[in-house]
Amino acid sequence: MGIQVDGNNNRVAGRDYYENKIKPCPRCEIRVIDREKNVCNHCYSEERGMEAKGLLALFGICVWLVTSQLHEWRIERGLPVGIEGLMETMAISAGLVFGAAALIWFFLPIAFEILAEWLKSRRG
Ligand SMILES: [Zn+2]
Repeated sequence: MGIQVDGNNNRVAGRDYYENKIKPCPRCEIRVIDREKNVCNHCYSEERGMEAKGLLALFGICVWLVTSQLHEWRIERGLPVGIEGLMETMAISAGLVFGAAALIWFFLPIAFEILAEWLKSRRG
């Protein structure tokens, strides 16, 4: 292949620089990762940790909300509401929230699938 002065079909060495299998992690820009990956292992585990903390906080808030509702419900019915009653209410609330979370965890993928089908049918 001869080099053509007008530039057609010329292969230049520059393109070879882009055939690297690695790139810097777009999140921390310190570690390098495979081209197919989105973030490095360090950032991935960090993200998972943040997710777990967020879920735990959400769980705590839900338990607290249910506890306050159950507590009022107990007062309205004249049930004992001492420290023991409160502990019992909290335990029941934690169980309820945990059960609700398990149900959502189980049904959410199905709900998403139904939603996706519904959107598809709407678009025709
Ligand atoms: Zn990273």
